[in-house]
Parts: sequence; C-alpha cells; structure tokens
Amino acid sequence: MGTKVAKFGGSSVADAIQIEKTRKIIEADPDRRYVVVSAPGKRFDGDNKITDLLYLCKAQIDHNAPYDQVFQVIHDRFMAMEISLGVSVGLAGLFDGIRARLRDDPSEDYIASRGEYLSAAVVAAYLGYDFVDAAGLILFDKKGRLLQDETAAAIGAELSKHRNAVLPGFYGSRPDGSIKTFSRGGSDITGALVAGAVGADVYENWTDVSGFLMADPRIVKNPRSIGRISYIELRELSYMGASVLHENAIYPARKANIPINIRNTNEPDEPGTVITAQEEDAGEGGCVIKGVAGSKDFCVIAVYKNMMSVEVGFIRRLLSIFEEYGIPIEHIPSGVDTVSIVLAKKHVEDRLPDILEDFERRLQPDSIEVFEDMALIATVGKGMAARPGVSATMFTALYEAGVNIRMIDQGSSEMNIIIGVENKDFETAIRAIYGAFVDAV
Ligand code: ADP
Ligand code: ASP
Ligand code: MG
Repeated sequence: MGTKVAKFGGSSVADAIQIEKTRKIIEADPDRRYVVVSAPGKRFDGDNKITDLLYLCKAQIDHNAPYDQVFQVIHDRFMAMEISLGVSVGLAGLFDGIRARLRDDPSEDYIASRGEYLSAAVVAAYLGYDFVDAAGLILFDKKGRLLQDETAAAIGAELSKHRNAVLPGFYGSRPDGSIKTFSRGGSDITGALVAGAVGADVYENWTDVSGFLMADPRIVKNPRSIGRISYIELRELSYMGASVLHENAIYPARKANIPINIRNTNEPDEPGTVITAQEEDAGEGGCVIKGVAGSKDFCVIAVYKNMMSVEVGFIRRLLSIFEEYGIPIEHIPSGVDTVSIVLAKKHVEDRLPDILEDFERRLQPDSIEVFEDMALIATVGKGMAARPGVSATMFTALYEAGVNIRMIDQGSSEMNIIIGVENKDFETAIRAIYGAFVDAV
C-alpha cells in the first residue's frame, strides 16, 4: 500500500456540496491517507473567503470597531456545514473558545489560522479520519523562520501514529506556542511539508482548475493545461505570479523527489499537471514555451554612470543600500554603464525619496530614472534556450499589440525571459505572448 498526501484548497471545502466531492475523491483511493485542508473559500463570484473575513475581524478589533457581525457570518457558514453534512464536530464549543480568545486581543496570525483549524475539524469528522493539529508540527523559530528538519521530524513522528488524518494547512507555531501563519495561499506549503515528511508517493494538490495552465485563465480565455512540467520551471511561473500553487510549496517536494499532481476537485477524472524533476524541451503540443505568468506593481530604478563597469565595488555599494533598508530585490538587469533595480512596490512604499537621496549621495550617478507602476512578465520554458528567434517572436508580438517594453532580463539559465511593461499593458502583453507562442503552433 502506498501513501498519498492530498491537499484541498478553499474552493474544494467551500461548503457541504464541495466537501462531499472531496470525500468521494479521498475514498476512491485508500492511499490518500493524509489530507491537508484550507479554510473554506468562495462559493460563488463575489462571495467571501473565510480567511479574508477573519482578517477583517482582526482589523475591526484593532480599530475598536464591533466585529460580532463578521464573526457571526463565519460562525454561520461553519454551522451550516456541520448541519448539512450531518456530523457532530462540537463546533459550538470551538466557537465559544475562539470568541473568548478574541476578547484578549490575540495576534492576527492566530485569528487567521482559525479558518483552517475549523475546516480540518469538520472534514476530519465527516471522513472519520483523525484530526491532527498543525500547531505542534509545523515549527518556526522565534523570528518566524520555518525549521525544516524539526518540522519534518515532528510530522513524521506524529503521523506514524495515525493510519489516516486530516491536518489544517497554513499555520504552525513558534517555540513559545504562539501561532504563525505562512503567507497567503500557504496551505500548499503545509501539504508539501507533510508529503515530504511521510515520504509520500505523490503530493496531490486539489483545486478548482484542471492543472497548471499555460497562462492565468482570468486573463487568457481557455488556456491550455500543462501535462508535465519540471519543478524548476514551475517555481519560475509560481514565483512570477501563477497563483495556483504557492511558490514555496515546490522545494519540500523537490527535495524529497515527490511528484506534485495538480488536480481539479470539480473534474476529478482529468489527469491535471504532473510536476517532477524531469525536464523536457518542448511544452504542450510541441510549443517552445511552458507557460507565461506575471504580476503588477513593481518599481524600477535605472541608474546610469559613465565608466560604471570599471568602478570597483559600485554594485556592492548599490546593493548595500537596499540591504540597509531591508528591501529584497527582484531582478538586476544590467548593461555596460547602466544597472536597473527591480523592486516590489509593497516593499518600497514611501521610502523611495530616501532611497534616491542615498543613491545620489553614495553612488554619484550621472542620472537616475524611476519607473513606477510596472508589471513583470516571465515567459518560461526549458526549450527556449535551444531555439533561435524566441525573443524576436516575443518582441514582434508585443510591438504589434502596442506594448512598450521597459526592461528585458534573460536569466542565465536561459529558461526564462522576463520583461517589464507598464501595469496598464499587463493583460495585453500576456495575451500577446500567449498568442504568439501557443496559438501559433
Ligand atoms: P486553492 O484555493 O485551491 O488553493 P487558488 O485560488 O489558490 O486555489 O488557485 C487556483 C486559481 O489560480 C485558479 O482558479 C486560477 O484562477 C488561478 N491561476 C492563476 N494562474 C494560473 C495558472 N497558470 N494555471 C491555473 N490557475 C491559475
Ligand atoms: N486560507 C489561506 C488563504 O486564504 C491559506 C490557503 O488557502 O492556502 O490564504
Ligand atoms: Mg491556493
């Protein structure tokens, strides 16, 4: 008998109807022994995710505003599940406990984590699986950094005692026992950590799309599904914005060489996407690229200085400025006497004037140009390196679509080409690239 770890995202546990689909999937294969769940997500367009409502509760508490109404909505959604599924989870008692904690002004992470906690309690009761809390298993240090080895050991030791279990995704705890969440979408990471710790045969990630698609389906109509892709290519696409799998969920699976299979809870017969170490040159249907993804809201600072290339230590001094501000850098495309720094706007916020002042004083550049409201788009595919004319195809398509390219960066692996365009051109550019490489073959 094998072991599969199955993670079900928010839409797969959004209500009793979805949980019933989830149960059927789990029961169809006895190897699906360990299940990780998200908090209930949206049931329809315009609905709220439970996690968003929990964050809203915290915001209300922080503003000394009443939060009872929002909390009641969360309560009612879970109670409706308990009733519709005909299980007795003891939710009323669990909610009383959470309500009592809310009066003591608990941390944002604690409040946000309750969606996954309650979701796992409901799904475990419905399946007749053991409920195993993630708080004592997903371990962070006091600064909030994941302790990988300790986490793997704790999960392995605990799950060896359970034939079948449901675990809440998204959170763990610090040494003092306080709850710490991952960033949004982090239940994917929990699933990967559990899969790695138990040495699963496969990590199944059940969501609302039939696998990883070659582009965001909210931008490109009916994009093709990717049948197979390597961990490295997928990480590029997730990191750049393909939100279907959290970018940090790849490493634990990759390290343990566990294939990831992205599947659709609403179309369980579809094979979805299989992610392994194996690299293939061609994408779907012989396509040169595997996929295109991106996100908005970056800021590019372009620095020009004559003879920069021979000025020893210039780049080090430039980078140390960002280190001092604690700002991570996304990309550093460079030319002979120019270098551009690409940063996420959320990390810069109102510190830009100070940063520019430091630039002037410490680097004495000939000029600095700042482009705000930029989007980055990565076109990814192992096969691009071997084919001439890839850039020409891309740039022609973008030119014909009227998109102005502000920045180009080709990673040294030649597995991706990253371009910077204005936020307003983001969707047009994605469609143009997809059309040029995918529709054309
Ligand atoms: P879950 O709640 O199951 O974790 P998410 O909402 O996090 O699901 O991720 C699935 C969503 O990701 C899809 O509904 C889709 O809108 C979006 N998405 C963005 N880019 C892609 C892509 N390249 N392939 C598939 N889905 C994508
Ligand atoms: N519920 C959390 C979120 O909405 C984590 C997750 O769904 O993976 O971000
Ligand atoms: Mg997700």
